[in-house]
Amino acid sequence: MRRTPALIVGGGPAGAVAALLLARAGAPHLLIERQAETGDALCGGFLSWRTLALLARLGIEDDAIGARRVTHVALFAGTRRATIALPQPGAAVSRRRLDTLLLDHAARAGARIERGIGARATTDGGLRLDDGSEIAAHALFLATGKHDLRGAARPTPARDSDRVLGLRVRLAPAPALDRLIANRIELHLFDRGYAGVVLQEDGTANCCLAVHRSLLAEAGSPAALLDRLAARNPALGERLTWRGPAIIDAVANVPYGWRETCGAPGFFRLGDQAAVIPSLAGEGIAIAIASAAAATRTYLRDGAAASCAWQPMLARRNARAMRVAGVARQLAESPVAAPPLVTLAAAWPGLVRIAARLTRIGSIPI
Ligand SMILES: Cc1cc2nc3c(=O)[nH]c(=O)nc-3n(C[C@H](O)[C@H](O)[C@H](O)COP(=O)(O)OP(=O)(O)OC[C@H]3O[C@@H](n4cnc5c(N)ncnc54)[C@H](O)[C@@H]3O)c2cc1C
Repeated sequence: MRRTPALIVGGGPAGAVAALLLARAGAPHLLIERQAETGDALCGGFLSWRTLALLARLGIEDDAIGARRVTHVALFAGTRRATIALPQPGAAVSRRRLDTLLLDHAARAGARIERGIGARATTDGGLRLDDGSEIAAHALFLATGKHDLRGAARPTPARDSDRVLGLRVRLAPAPALDRLIANRIELHLFDRGYAGVVLQEDGTANCCLAVHRSLLAEAGSPAALLDRLAARNPALGERLTWRGPAIIDAVANVPYGWRETCGAPGFFRLGDQAAVIPSLAGEGIAIAIASAAAATRTYLRDGAAASCAWQPMLARRNARAMRVAGVARQLAESPVAAPPLVTLAAAWPGLVRIAARLTRIGSIPI
């Protein structure tokens, strides 16, 4: 059986940053990632100013990311709209680019990364891999993001509840689309869901939706759902004319609002495995990076057993942002609340800026 003091599972933002920081500290570790090639994870790709600050502290500056600058948020509900300056500029980038950058950065720092290796389940003191072999570890950093691991799965919402899924479609590059979206992250609000639209570094626009299952069931298929949303929401419909025959990516059962509040010895949950903030906050990547930085710092200073106290501490640190984002999501998905809310936002843009600030996570030392 292979052994390693620290085993990181998953090479998304959380896992890559954990590997980077352990490598920089000269601490022996191993990161395993199921995908042999970096894919384009389903994500809105919005980097908040907090995310950008965390990346800068890791030594990854805006220029290296090559992301599109985002200075405003535009809200749409029915025929109402409001455009508001963000408290600080953010950015937008494809996940393929961001994840590649972070993993390259970790590899250059000396991180030990093995790709094409999937973990199947946790064992007593380590992991069982897809090929049946096992790896033993003193400390396990679980960074499998949206995917759960047998033996350590997050609680899934009840089958009879109206669960949430993520959908993503790319809009083809076009000068007219560029002018339409410009330097804004757009949030299109509708009954039982919302869509974020933003331009990315390669000129395409990312249209990422969080919708309840019942909405998909009513439409019959993801493509029919997009057609239906386009017909009912004129501004979103205008953007979706650029979708062409593009593939629609999907991820099921997104447990928005979930936080791990208990700790277990030698077991650090990072990123989406620690807390799943509603995606309209655009703070999931910041949580992934910050949780990885905080966990590795704790591990290096106090050892693997310190995870017991660390995990609930992380949950407390993320509590405010998660609560505010949860309320914002409920309002955004309500056909009664969303239109007047957009009118209110147009009249008092300061309210949106306050909500944007309250949904950022606290700063952490790196
Ligand atoms: C619809 C939607 C839109 C979003 N938009 C935004 C946004 O605009 N801005 C933002 O900041 N956040 C956004 N988020 C949240 C963001 O995507 C996540 O918070 C972030 O990706 C979490 O990073 P992570 O490293 O924890 O997990 P992930 O990014 O999911 O990475 C997990 C990695 O682990 C690997 N893996 C999984 N299982 C295994 C296994 N068994 N063995 C080995 N490897 C494995 C995967 O291949 C993957 O590379 C959005 C989320 C959704 C659902």
